[in-house]
Amino acid sequence: MGVAALFYLSSALETEAEPAQNAEQPTTQQAPAPQPTPTPAPQQTPAGQAAPPAAEPAPDTSGETRTATRVIALANQKGGVAKTTTTLNLGVAFREMGHRVLLVDLDPQGNLTMSQGLNPDAIERSMFDVLVHRVPISEVIEQREVDLAVASIDLAGAELALSALIGRERSLEKALAEVRGQYDFVLIDTPPSLGLLTINAFVAATGVIVPVQCEYLSLRGLVQLENTLAMVRENLNPHVAVEGIVATMFDGRTLHSREAIEILEENFGDLVYRTRIRKTVRYAEAPVKGSSVLKYDPTGAAAEAYRELAREVVAAKEAQDGAQAREHA
Ligand code: ADP
Ligand code: MG
Repeated sequence: MGVAALFYLSSALETEAEPAQNAEQPTTQQAPAPQPTPTPAPQQTPAGQAAPPAAEPAPDTSGETRTATRVIALANQKGGVAKTTTTLNLGVAFREMGHRVLLVDLDPQGNLTMSQGLNPDAIERSMFDVLVHRVPISEVIEQREVDLAVASIDLAGAELALSALIGRERSLEKALAEVRGQYDFVLIDTPPSLGLLTINAFVAATGVIVPVQCEYLSLRGLVQLENTLAMVRENLNPHVAVEGIVATMFDGRTLHSREAIEILEENFGDLVYRTRIRKTVRYAEAPVKGSSVLKYDPTGAAAEAYRELAREVVAAKEAQDGAQAREHA
């Protein structure tokens, strides 16, 4: 991790409340350590940027269910960081705690759908029809370990089909209005990009949880994600923010993994959950059986890690809400 990258990160974090275009180049106060030039990530233009101002009025956010239901987008534009694994196992852990849980598969790859034993290629109606054709979301919810709004391969065409629609960024939010009162938690699994599907998740969400893989920690990627969220806050959903960062595939035996956690905590402080999701093959075995790790190996350490994370996610939110209430008192 180069010094320049850390400066870049902290400057972007400090300007978080400012418009996203304020993200600065690394400062030159300190000579950055020599480092290979990173290949620039392809610049994605989130659809939010080009949105006509106030195309539609923001939905009423004062409703009881709006505050009661937590809609959490699991996002990181990097693939293979455990978004899908976390969506499923955190969801099942919430269910074990007695919460009512809906999972939404918003990734055209349909891995979440598959991980509950369903075949995305054989699914007739899916989130594609919900987002693009306004089919009620209740019609694509399957009851598995928890309720699951399924993806099919069609979803790959959703970004293009949505891009022509007015209100394209609010399609998921509108669809969820039908059912959100029936759930305590709605967890949305997103694709590995910051395109229109992920923007839809950010607009519908009350918070974002970012899984990061300890092995290939990408702070640049996290800055990009935060910039997209800042744009969504400005234009579409003023309340959405990263509520937590979860370190996944942690291997305590390697210095590399421990350093990754240190860098995360230096930069994001309390946003980093204390719970570490360790690296184990259990997480890859369970979906092959069409089940969560909590069902596959209920007493194992892998299942317990997600139970612990679920308790921490609940407690962290209570602490944040309490702090906010005191501020406004
Ligand atoms: P994403 O949704 O971000 O692309 P996945 O949840 O599909 O990531 O995880 C990528 C791969 O890593 C999958 O094969 C999954 O089973 C595996 N995996 C997830 N979490 C862990 C972990 N803690 N340890 C080892 N393998 C993991
Ligand atoms: Mg995935």
